[in-house]
Amino acid sequence: MNETHTIRFEDLGLREEILRAVRESGYVEPTPIQARAIPEILARKDVIGIAQTGTGKTASFVLPMLQILSSGRGRARMPRSLILSPTRELATQTARNFEIYGKYLHLSMALLIGGVGMGAQERLLDKGVDVLIATPGRLLDWYERGKILLGGIEILVIDEADRMFDMGFLPDVERIVSLILGRRQTLLFSATMPPEVRRLADRFLVNPVEVQVARPATTAETVDDVVVEVGADEKKDALLEIIEREGITKAIVFCNRKRDIGAVMRHLHRAGLKVRDLHGDLEQSQRQATLDQFTRGEIDFLVATDVAARGLDITDMPAVINFDVPLNPEDYVHRIGRTGRAGRRGRAFTLAAPEEQRFLANIEKLTKRKIPRLARVGAREEEKGAGEPVPMRQPVPRPVEVGRRRRSAAAATAPRETSVVRSAQKTPSARKTGARSASAPQREAQVLAFGEHVPRFLANPVPVPMRKAS
Ligand code: AMP
Repeated sequence: MNETHTIRFEDLGLREEILRAVRESGYVEPTPIQARAIPEILARKDVIGIAQTGTGKTASFVLPMLQILSSGRGRARMPRSLILSPTRELATQTARNFEIYGKYLHLSMALLIGGVGMGAQERLLDKGVDVLIATPGRLLDWYERGKILLGGIEILVIDEADRMFDMGFLPDVERIVSLILGRRQTLLFSATMPPEVRRLADRFLVNPVEVQVARPATTAETVDDVVVEVGADEKKDALLEIIEREGITKAIVFCNRKRDIGAVMRHLHRAGLKVRDLHGDLEQSQRQATLDQFTRGEIDFLVATDVAARGLDITDMPAVINFDVPLNPEDYVHRIGRTGRAGRRGRAFTLAAPEEQRFLANIEKLTKRKIPRLARVGAREEEKGAGEPVPMRQPVPRPVEVGRRRRSAAAATAPRETSVVRSAQKTPSARKTGARSASAPQREAQVLAFGEHVPRFLANPVPVPMRKAS
């Protein structure tokens, strides 16, 4: 048993106003990343947090940041802390966290993201804010207009640094860090540590403490994921089939391309489902309105691009369906991380056409585990290399309801091992692979009887350019 389980929020050195807000959020005990990172941040160390979303990483930097900022005040145009986020959604989510945990403190915050009016942002900046939460592009925009001075930043957070790299933001981030003068505390969070992010950390962080929960790029253990192999032109039907047969009442459906979103959405709409789209072409206000409707349960299905893959935190998300296999294997980890959050179980389905097998192989290489295959009813049986496919009509092995066992959120989100190591000695955690592969219930046999006579055409070899499930 890990000793972090015995640590209480009260032991972390946080002030009563923050503890009260945490209690009201219903948190029983800190998650491993919180238990490890909060004392280090309060000791004013630079920290590298290797943790994926869903581990409680946002509170692990917002809570100590609130504590540090609670003494002192921001001056006009001189914010005291800056949180850089790769996407507007993540920035918005972090701002919400800041408001929730900081409700008994009198700190001010400005959210600087693209797609929203600049007037209100400008008024806030002129008044002076304690915390800036921003996407890199919008922040530089304000800086170049002379509306913010970055010399007063005491704490800088670079959140989801691997995503910053994927989205081509690292040069902007480097520029921003270079603009921040003097001694600052830098906290860098990333689900994975590609070499470019490691270089950024080496360049800008001073003697960082590395706090790692779960090996990089492991999928959350609260998610049961399967692959459904289909022909590319059968995906829309397969999608509906999964929703109906698996009894999915709410899900995000991820598409790789914006151009597919309309067709998928119409297909679900025609089947009578309450569905909306979410992608980068929509105005920020529209995106937020859709997310609010989804959270309130006014719509049940969201057809989205990867703008929804990171940071989106909707606790009650029973399933994620990948209409396409993500091209970037790390996106898989993030997409399916939208379900199985805050200790609940989640299910993830990935529709994979034959031409997408290589992307699937990349994902399995990254996550170091085979994803079980779920056979479509009537699909031709083939050797899949991941054990016997699970037939769809049989219920997918249902996970145990965690909530009923009253398992604490920290235990539920806790990866099997946690390590705190100085940057020199890294100890990758040894997560068992393959532990979640689905059991192999009996295939539901479809029996076609021809008696003694086999029609001639069945004996002819048929060239099949790509596998199609019939
Ligand atoms: P994050 O990893 O920051 O995206 O957080 C994932 C989810 O865990 C969010 O819904 C948080 O509200 C929730 N959460 C954060 N800390 C705790 C905690 N100590 N106990 C229970 N839930 C938490």
